[in-house]
Amino acid sequence: MLPTEITKNIYCPKCGGVVPGLDDDNFRRYNQVYMKCVESVKAYRSEHGTSLQQTPLGELYQPALDSYYELTGFRGADALHLWRKHRISKYPLYCDRCNLCYLAPTTGRCPVCSA
Ligand SMILES: [Zn+2]
Ligand SMILES: [Zn+2]
Repeated sequence: MLPTEITKNIYCPKCGGVVPGLDDDNFRRYNQVYMKCVESVKAYRSEHGTSLQQTPLGELYQPALDSYYELTGFRGADALHLWRKHRISKYPLYCDRCNLCYLAPTTGRCPVCSA
């Protein structure tokens, strides 16, 4: 097996700090698992006729959270949030001092070291 490339971190405002991001390869892997979870939620709901509130989302999205953990070593709590917000390519700015990708439309400074 090839050595795994070190994952870049991102500064996620919602998580309130530095978390591992998904590069394009890892995002593709995560996306595959995540999409299966979305399908299993749909299947569960049509089979049982449940509302979203009555659907065991935690359980059905667990494979996505496990996949994120395998890819990054980090336990996320919200599969949708990880899918939407933890993709590195959505964070255009990079601080090489912190090895951190971030969004900073106003200041253009790294949120951790302010470089
Ligand atoms: Zn986050
Ligand atoms: Zn920095």
